Amino acid sequence: MIFGLAACSWPDRTIGAQSEIVMDTVCHIDLFESGTAELYRDLFTRLRELEHVLSAYREDSELAKLNRNAGLEAVEISMELYAVLERALYFAEISGGAFDPTVGPLVKLWDINSSHPRVPLDNEIQAILALVNWQDLELTAPRDGYAARAFLKRQGMAVDLGAIAKGFAADQLVKILEEQGVPRAIINLGGDIYVWGERAGGGPWRIAVQDPLAEQGIFAGILYLGGDISVVCSGVYERYFTGADGKSYHHILGLMENGIDSRRGYPVENHLLSVTVIAASAMDADALSTACFVLGYEKGLELAMAFGAEILFIFEDKAIRGSPGALDVFSPSGVY
Ligand code: AMP
Ligand code: MG
Repeated sequence: MIFGLAACSWPDRTIGAQSEIVMDTVCHIDLFESGTAELYRDLFTRLRELEHVLSAYREDSELAKLNRNAGLEAVEISMELYAVLERALYFAEISGGAFDPTVGPLVKLWDINSSHPRVPLDNEIQAILALVNWQDLELTAPRDGYAARAFLKRQGMAVDLGAIAKGFAADQLVKILEEQGVPRAIINLGGDIYVWGERAGGGPWRIAVQDPLAEQGIFAGILYLGGDISVVCSGVYERYFTGADGKSYHHILGLMENGIDSRRGYPVENHLLSVTVIAASAMDADALSTACFVLGYEKGLELAMAFGAEILFIFEDKAIRGSPGALDVFSPSGVY
């Protein structure tokens, strides 16, 4: 009834929220009263354009070209790829390498993003780890009419932007919303969420945080947030498989030199099930949620707070901890 009344006051050409699969992800956009077919089309077209830049899995992407030239030569890159690589290196640095965009060969070894993942042998992992080092990704800023360039110094190295690209894409969609004067929208790129503008009728937006142990759609609680903010979650439940040993293996790989619980090159085991980050930029929130998952609770909390982001950690024993600012706006479902 309420929905019907609201819809009546919207322009005739308005259509409801739209979903498409892009970047191997269900991308959901709700433009509310601004939802014309043209605008939805423009936004999804932009997402597909970005996939052609940032995907490590499309042979025709710009990123694939950079990876093919590893150890051979520097390649010219677009400003978009430059922007993401530059930010990825920044997060690699401030996380002490817990977040590392050159994790590509390791992701490929586990084949975790495919339909046939497998547990590699330990010596395979050790050999591949030698190829993972963000300091061997050389970036040259564009200047004097020359394009930006990137170079992976050693053959076999590969960049994987799976932990940051969706966030960048969400930020790019927000730019279009801003240009088009859209008053409010929700963008959800497989859990990378951006809420744009004010909710119709005022009041905070409500963003549900998935219960990592339950089926999709069952929530650990709700975040109450003002507009123009991003919420991104990294969790063990997003991609995982069961090995021949019956153990569950997820998709976030430990890369810390002195990991206490986690072994370098293996899915992180630090009693966390998910990390949710709230930040003004979805790209930052995306990179931080992965970085802080790898770092674990204490170091992750410290990093997020130093950055000025809010953060929520959900543990195996169902405990929820986080920054004071995040806990302030979080209402647990009661199960937690
Ligand atoms: P997210 O869901 O944003 O936490 O990103 C996880 C994805 O990022 C994985 O599926 C891998 O493709 C990639 N990844 C895994 N471990 C790392 C890591 N330590 N640093 C950067 N990217 C990673
Ligand atoms: Mg991420």
